[in-house]
Amino acid sequence: MAGEPQAGCLFCKIVAGDVPATVVRQTDTVVAFRDINPQAPSHVLVIPKAHYPDAASLAAAEPTIAADVLREAGEVAKQEETDGTGYRVVFNTGSGAGQTVFHAHAHVLGGRGLEWPPG
Ligand code: C5P
Repeated sequence: MAGEPQAGCLFCKIVAGDVPATVVRQTDTVVAFRDINPQAPSHVLVIPKAHYPDAASLAAAEPTIAADVLREAGEVAKQEETDGTGYRVVFNTGSGAGQTVFHAHAHVLGGRGLEWPPG
């Protein structure tokens, strides 16, 4: 069923506590944890606890939870103190855009200058 944990999904395992992660924030609906391969001094992933394969399918099915993800991205930036200098929120969507884990997630990157356009 939509939103239910998927066997074999790495981020569902993190939500369940079956795979370790450095959690920096958690609410009823989302978890934020440090990316294992950081691309910036501060690199945190914000994920919905419910399983949806990407941000668009999450927003279509659960707009309130999608908003929770965005709000928590902002709270992460405040907590990481990257909000003052600027930070980036990225949803890689599809393998052609670099998505490798097919459970919706926002990358929250900051702590260094970020170029535009991204690669
Ligand atoms: O956007 P994309 O799907 O590529 O992002 C997945 C992210 O999950 C990667 O940045 C990767 O470093 C991260 N990851 C993680 N912990 C894991 C496995 C992957 O933080 N155990």
